[in-house]
Amino acid sequence: MNGVLSADWVLPVEGPPIENGAVAIADGRIAAVGKAEELGEGTRYDDAVIVPGFVNAHSHLEYAVYGGFGDGLGDFAEWITLHIQRKARIGWEEYVDVARFGAAQCLASGVTTVGDCSYSGASAPACAELGLRATVYLEVFGADPPKALEHFAGLRDRVGDAFSERVRPGVSPHAPYSVSIELYEACAELGLPVATHISESRSEVAYLLTGAGAWGAYKELLVPSPGKTGTHLLAEHDLLGPNVVAAHCIVLDEDEIGLLAATGTGVAHCPRSNAALGCGVAPLAELTAAGARVGVGTDSPASAPSFDFFEELRSVVLSARARAGRPDVVSAGEALELGTLGSARALGLDGEIGSLVPGKRADCTIVSMEGSAYLPWEDPAGAVVFGGSPDRVVATFVDGEARYEKGGMDWQELTAAAHNARRAMLAQPAAKPVAAPRA
Ligand SMILES: [Zn+2]
Repeated sequence: MNGVLSADWVLPVEGPPIENGAVAIADGRIAAVGKAEELGEGTRYDDAVIVPGFVNAHSHLEYAVYGGFGDGLGDFAEWITLHIQRKARIGWEEYVDVARFGAAQCLASGVTTVGDCSYSGASAPACAELGLRATVYLEVFGADPPKALEHFAGLRDRVGDAFSERVRPGVSPHAPYSVSIELYEACAELGLPVATHISESRSEVAYLLTGAGAWGAYKELLVPSPGKTGTHLLAEHDLLGPNVVAAHCIVLDEDEIGLLAATGTGVAHCPRSNAALGCGVAPLAELTAAGARVGVGTDSPASAPSFDFFEELRSVVLSARARAGRPDVVSAGEALELGTLGSARALGLDGEIGSLVPGKRADCTIVSMEGSAYLPWEDPAGAVVFGGSPDRVVATFVDGEARYEKGGMDWQELTAAAHNARRAMLAQPAAKPVAAPRA
C-alpha cells in the first residue's frame, strides 16, 4: 500500500516516542515518520501504538505444533527419542503445513521477520507464501563436511524457489556438540548468514569440555568433545562474527561474553525456552553492557510455550530482573528495542528493518490497548510490553502490505492442516496422566 497509518503513539525505537504519530509508506518503504497533524491521519487506530514489526531472532517454525511434546522429561535420551519417533510419522507436505501455521502465529503476534532454523527447509515456502520476512537457516549436523554439504544442497534445491529478497537462505550448523569444527568451517565458506546454538545448558558445556557428565552417556549421538566451550572453539577458528547469530548463550564466563561482543556475533536471547527446559537465565545485562548484539527469540513450541512475542518480551524483563535482583536492570522500552532493532542487528538486517525511520522497509505492527489497564497513557512502551498480546494485534505490515489483520484472516484451512499433522504425530492421542510434582 501507499498511504499513512496513524495512532495515539508511534514508537520508532530509533528516536523518541511520538504522541499522535503517523507513519507514511510508499513502495514498501517508510517515507516519513512524524506527527499526524503533519503527515495526515490516513488509516487511524484509536487507543493504539504503532511499533516496528517484531524481529524473532530464533525460531523453528516447523515445530509449531509440538506444544507439550516431551515437556518435563529430564532424560535427554527419552526426550530426543520421542521427538525422532513423532517427526518420522509425517512427511514433507505436513512439515510445510506445520511451518505455515508457525508463520501465521508469528504474524498474528506482530512478528514481521524471523531468523528460522529449519531442519527440513519447510519454513522457506511457508514464509514466502504468508509474506513473513525470514532468514531460513537450513540445518546441518554431523562430523563429515562432504556428507553434510550434500544434504544442505538437497535442502536448498528443494526450497530454492521460495528464496527472494524477503526470504533469504542461510545455513545452521546446529551446535558444537552435534557438528564438527570442520563442518562449521565448511559452512562458513558458503558465504551465507550462519545460525547456531551455543551454551544452552551446563550438561552441554561439561560434555564439550571433558566428554563426560550427564551427556557422556550419549556419545554416539554427538561429535567428540573438543575440550573447549563452543564460544572459545568457534572464536579460535575465526568462526564468530557479525554474520553469525548464536541462540541461547546461557552458560558463559566473562571471557566468552567479551568474545561474543568483540566479534560482533549476534546473540538470540530466548528466556522462555531456557526457563522451560530448566537451562537457566542468560546473562542479558552483562552481554548488553559488553556491547554484544543481543536480540530476542521465541524458539519454538518444542521447548517454549508458543510464538507469543509479547510473552517473550515480558520474560526478557522479568528474567533479567529476577537474575539481577533489581528492577532497573532492563526497562520495557529496552526490551522493546531488543525485540526489534536488537534482533535486526543480531541477524545483520538493521540497515533494512528494526526501527521506524525513513528509508527502511515498512514493517510495522499496530497494538491496541483499548479497554486495558494501561489507559490513559503513561508509558506506551510499557503498555505494549506488559499489557500486549497477540489478541491486541490489530494489524501486521510487511513491506507495507497487511499480512495479518485481526478479524480479517482466520487461517481456518491452514490451522486444520497443521492440526492434522499433529494428530498424525501423536498417533494414538491419549490423555496423559497428570503426574505429581517431583520432590
Ligand atoms: Zn533452536
